[in-house]
Amino acid sequence: MSFENKVAVVTGGAHGIGKAVADALRADGATVHIIDIKPSGGGWFEGDVSNKETLEKFASEIVAKSGHVDILVNNALPLMKGIDSCSYEEFQYALAVGVTAPFYLTKLLAPHFNEGASVINIASSRDRMSQPQTESYTAAKGGIAALTHALAISLAGRARVNSISPGWIDTSDVGDADGIVSCSTFTGPDASQQPVGRVGNPRDIAEMVLFLCSEKAGFITGENICIDGGMTKLMIYHGEHGWTYEEK
Ligand code: NAD
Repeated sequence: MSFENKVAVVTGGAHGIGKAVADALRADGATVHIIDIKPSGGGWFEGDVSNKETLEKFASEIVAKSGHVDILVNNALPLMKGIDSCSYEEFQYALAVGVTAPFYLTKLLAPHFNEGASVINIASSRDRMSQPQTESYTAAKGGIAALTHALAISLAGRARVNSISPGWIDTSDVGDADGIVSCSTFTGPDASQQPVGRVGNPRDIAEMVLFLCSEKAGFITGENICIDGGMTKLMIYHGEHGWTYEEK
């Protein structure tokens, strides 16, 4: 796919899935603007997406440098804490990173969207299922999934808006070095509990971002695509798949 002359924006693009997405877009010709909280050394706009003024400065810089936006990927990772330990402020922070920032950055950049623009929100399979003690993250992911269809309707004719819900993606191999390493170190039950027989890698998500942003996906908006190796589709009963129920 060619993204020559396209301008893309990726939040949390310094590591993991965001880095794989940014690298893939750049490799296909796009100019990519990244914001990340990690120290940048000049490689990206350094800042916390939970901060309103930071988002305003970032958006102004993008418009000053590139003039327009074709692709926005809201990816920065929200805090995961559970009901026993998560404070009011921490819960608010998770929602600020995971829901308010995607909303506000989209609002700031929408007036500068080119024809055919695309917004991709990175949700999680946790938007539909939970482990104990994950409320701040899970609520943020439910929020961004619903924000996606709301924005798709409000921005109809100006941008297509879709979300991706990754399952278990091993980001440990995707450091700050060059290139995308796609082999996961997870084997045995970690891999075989997934219907496809392996843990995911960031490239699995980047490929879907490229497709959703392309003209090939021109009839898709307001949609959520779960990329989890089939894990959310596996029904487990006691005694199956090596799983044994233990009384608490
Ligand atoms: P990661 O930790 O590898 O990368 C996240 C990036 O976001 C980091 O570079 C980090 O510095 C940046 N970031 C965090 N808080 C920020 C903030 N407040 N402002 C700016 N940047 C910030 O994580 P990842 O696994 O690549 O996660 C990327 C997205 O994918 C997240 O939204 C995450 O919830 C989602 N996701 C990941 C998985 C998985 O298994 N890895 C599964 C489902 C969903």
